[in-house]
Amino acid sequence: MVATNDTPVEIPLLETLSPSRASDYKTCPQLYKFKAIDKIPTEPTTYQARGTTAHLALERLFMLPAADRTPARLYDLFREAWAELKPAEYPDLFDDVEAERSWGIESLQLLADYFSMEDPASFEPLELEMDLTVDIGDMAIRGILDRMEEVVETDSRGNERSVLVITDYKTGKAPPERYASQAFFALKIYALMIRVTRGVTPDRVRLLYLNGPTEYTMDVSDKQLDAMEGQLKALWKAINDAITSGRWPARTSALCDWCDFKATLCPAWNDVEGNPLGG
Ligand code: SF4
Repeated sequence: MVATNDTPVEIPLLETLSPSRASDYKTCPQLYKFKAIDKIPTEPTTYQARGTTAHLALERLFMLPAADRTPARLYDLFREAWAELKPAEYPDLFDDVEAERSWGIESLQLLADYFSMEDPASFEPLELEMDLTVDIGDMAIRGILDRMEEVVETDSRGNERSVLVITDYKTGKAPPERYASQAFFALKIYALMIRVTRGVTPDRVRLLYLNGPTEYTMDVSDKQLDAMEGQLKALWKAINDAITSGRWPARTSALCDWCDFKATLCPAWNDVEGNPLGG
């Protein structure tokens, strides 16, 4: 039996951890608790709907022959994916047809911008939507990696080399560059998972923000991944300690403005009755 913030409740210790939940705990333990322990459902938003639909469309784009990976085909795939996802996952997202149409036009603009960041006909991904569960020491890490590919690069002396890249799409706006290293946290965990399962170290991680568009890349090394493994072990222990003690501090930062719980449940911003503090 362990204590929580309110009443003692039995909570099992960690069995698996995903890179995104690890990232949540690192950002704010209270945020992790809301999502992973309390499993508080959040209202689906137009941003989430766009993200899920665009991911599915991009996955399907790479299943086509290279010559068919055109903007027009990607727009069709987006429309088809939306027609599939909407009835079950987002039936009441829009108040009227006009709002849905504007959302669709904005979404297609984002997909058009995708083609300014890369030419999807110029390479064949090694993996798409890769479902990974990896034991690292005593930890089980589970997550879905958007894409992995090998690309050939030519250096300034004209020498060619193969580069293993793992790529994550984002449909939200890119954070300012000073926060980019935080955004790479989850991707570096994926790089570690690839090293453990495949025995090769990815050379690079890459974040493609369709809204902008903005691309951030970071070269990775074994030394960095060794450090990430140490960090992950420390996080795993910290989460188990928090489950045992019931202490989930709310760590406020600029990222609170993007948090679903700021306006309602977060004790750093609201009183016990859910009214804004200082309001
Ligand atoms: S609003 Fe900020 S402090 Fe509160 S849970 Fe979210 S990230 Fe944590």
